[in-house]
Amino acid sequence: MRKVQRRDQLKTSVTITRLLYICPLCRVPLTADSDALHCSSCGARYPVEDGIADFSGGAYYDHFTGPESLGEEHRVGLAGEVEGSRWRIERFYAPRLARGSSVLDVGCGNGVSVDVLHELGFDACGIDLSSLRKWQWREREHRDRLAVASALELPFPEAAFDVVLSSGVIEHIGVEEFGGATYSVRPLVNRDALRDTFAAELLRVTKPGGKVYIDCPNGAFPIDFWHGAVAGNARWHSWKEGFLPSFRDVKRHVGNVTEIRRLPARDRFAFKQVGRHWYGKAFRAPMAWWLRFARGTPYLVVEITR
Ligand SMILES: [Zn+2]
Repeated sequence: MRKVQRRDQLKTSVTITRLLYICPLCRVPLTADSDALHCSSCGARYPVEDGIADFSGGAYYDHFTGPESLGEEHRVGLAGEVEGSRWRIERFYAPRLARGSSVLDVGCGNGVSVDVLHELGFDACGIDLSSLRKWQWREREHRDRLAVASALELPFPEAAFDVVLSSGVIEHIGVEEFGGATYSVRPLVNRDALRDTFAAELLRVTKPGGKVYIDCPNGAFPIDFWHGAVAGNARWHSWKEGFLPSFRDVKRHVGNVTEIRRLPARDRFAFKQVGRHWYGKAFRAPMAWWLRFARGTPYLVVEITR
């Protein structure tokens, strides 16, 4: 009996999500059949597997070929993300949001945020453009609320959400990153135009008077604890690198809105990833202190009222 009920609920939720999606290219409603969504305007077919709609057209930002391709360190890193994902919602964002708000998480990574938001009574959706994440999402309870899509072309109509969250995404837009033994990054010539488009997309799907939260490592702070050859690495960066935005940069990309302000970044992190390394342990206490008291903080949280 319970199981039947659960399946019915899932079915209803799948239907609602499918109705919510629009063609990210033409911005028109889609029609659904058993395993895909179709756009009558451009003829695109967007596959739906396991409840997960895929608007990427195969253009993922990563090249995940299957679980066997994951190394041990990568697996440990992915497992270690879960606690941080819960923390981000439970400790930082959920207490700020009005009860029952509809929430979109742009760049939701492992998708845990969407399950946690549902647990807390929010109506949540999430997108990411990763084939690895799509594979991970099969374990998510609310995977029918997760879609593979670009943050620059969201598959949602205007004013669809009360709140839009985007954590650690904006800095990766409009840049080319090089991994390996050392980490380096180079801005593309159209970086600012792409970041403008990103901000405009987040605002487009937010209701008038609704909130957009953009958070990322602070470009005005000389140490980056979040990007390196190894997760949890710390690196110095110059302001000329053109990677991490400052509050001024975010403001410029967002343009004209009702209100835009910085929030204190304390309580934003559990510091678990960074704490795995000796330098992380060494930095942990001062960084927690910094986030709590100092004005120039290593992490930026921007709250925008549309
Ligand atoms: Zn279309």
